[in-house]
Order: sequence, then structure tokens, then C-alpha cells
Amino acid sequence: MSLDPTLLAAGLPATGHICLVGAGPGAADLLTLRAVRRLAEADVVFYDRLVEPEVVAMAGPRAETVFVGKEVGLHSWPQEKIDAAIVAAALAGKRVVRLKSGDPSVFGRACEEIEAARAAGLPVEIVPGVTAASAAAAQMLRPLTERGQTDRLVIATATCRPGEQPQRLAASLTPGTTLALYMAMHRLHLIRDELLADGIAPDTAIDIVSGAETRRQRMLATRLECVCEDVAAAGIGNPAIVFIRIAKPALAAGLAETARLAAG
Ligand code: SAH
Repeated sequence: MSLDPTLLAAGLPATGHICLVGAGPGAADLLTLRAVRRLAEADVVFYDRLVEPEVVAMAGPRAETVFVGKEVGLHSWPQEKIDAAIVAAALAGKRVVRLKSGDPSVFGRACEEIEAARAAGLPVEIVPGVTAASAAAAQMLRPLTERGQTDRLVIATATCRPGEQPQRLAASLTPGTTLALYMAMHRLHLIRDELLADGIAPDTAIDIVSGAETRRQRMLATRLECVCEDVAAAGIGNPAIVFIRIAKPALAAGLAETARLAAG
């Protein structure tokens, strides 16, 4: 069951419900107005490790706040426990906000929580947020797509479920692509080796933004062949977005090649 638009316009229903709210990358002023409203109205807020304290503080004064501490490969609350807790609170009539970093729809395990809400017959909605790749690109002042250079944006995670083989990234890196890699830092050396083995040029530019829109923000511009050494030297860690761009061949070079082929 999703929220009726007329109810949404009038504010939230008085009965229990679940809102998956995007907390954005860090800074509270990157929340949407709808996220601010849901937080102010919430009876209980369940939030993740990557949600900054200043965003949690936007919850109303009477709201209970519960840290569910999920982290890559390290879950202090297993997903099923979170699902059960948000459903139990909503069934008790509470307005539940499930506050997730960035956009809940991007690597946010939103499906499980939506399923749990639906199975319990509870209204559920998603309030989108600014995803980390958007925030990172903005901080670098480098758009995610650049006309004539990159006309394809690929958002991918370097981390998959235990036992699953991650997809080879080079397949996504066709000319004209910006690849924004999430959850990549702990596998950076494997990623570098794989990309080099798959023929990606060693001097391919790599940009990394760590802690975008937080007080810990760091940025690094490097190349594929020395990315691991440079990251170690700079002491850059999680959470971070790793950008790999493969520009289109220059138009002039393309035209010259076409002319050369046409000439015979
Ligand atoms: N739903 C989130 C992503 C959660 S997965 C979103 O839309 O942004 C967690 C990963 O997101 C981290 O490992 C990191 O790759 C990225 N991330 C989250 N916050 C970040 C930040 N402030 N700066 C850079 N990367 C971030």
C-alpha cells in the first residue's frame, strides 16, 4: 500500500506508517523540505551510521531516535531486525521515519523495508535524497555528465552480497562514461588490478571524494596506476565515491578518422 496523494498533500495520515527518508550525504541543508517535514512529524526515527548527527537532530523534540548502525560488511542490527522494528512501531500507531544516508533508493536496502511494510498492510513511502555521487560531483565542481565527453552515468557498487561475484567494471567503462563507484575503498587494490588486467589505461584519471558534505570531506585526483598508493599517502578512507571517467574520443579525431576511412 502506498500513501494516497491527497493524504500526502494534507500531511501524513494519523495512523502508523513508514517513511524511508533520504538524509542526503551529510549537511542538513541538503535535506529536501519533505524530509524536514517527515522528520519534524515523526514519533520514532531509525537511523544509520552514515547519517550525520545534525540531520538526526532535525527530528521533533518528542521523537525517539534509534541508531541501527549498519555499516558495509558489519551490521550491528541485522536487516530483519530493522524490518521487524519499523513494522512493530508503525503497527503500534507510530509515525516511523527510517532515515537513510543519501537517497534511500541507491544501495539503501529499501526493498526489504518496503516489502516488510507492505506485508504488514502499512502505508509506506520514499522521500528521495541527494545521493553521494551527486554531492561528490558538486563538491568537485565537476558535473556527472559533460557534453561531448561523457553522456552516460553508471552508478555501481563494488561490494555485493557474500558469495556473489562482483561484475567486472571494465564492461561498464565504454567511451563516454562516468562511473561512480560506491563502497569501493576496501577493495581498491582489487579494482585497480582488475581494470588494468581488462585493458583500462594505467593513466586513466580517478577522482575520489570522501565524506562529501561532512566536516571530514577530502578530495583526491589521481591515476589508476597509482590510486592505492595515493589514497594511502593521503589517508583517505570510507565513505567515498570513486569516479572513473572514460571520455569519448575527441570529435576532431573522430572526424579525421572518418575522412581517412572514406578516402580509402
Ligand atoms: N544511499 C546512499 C548510499 C549508501 S551505500 C546514497 O544514496 O548516497 C554507502 C556508500 O555510499 C559508502 O560506502 C560510500 O561509497 C557512499 N557514501 C555515502 N555517504 C557519502 C559521503 N558523504 N561522501 C562520499 N561517499 C558517501
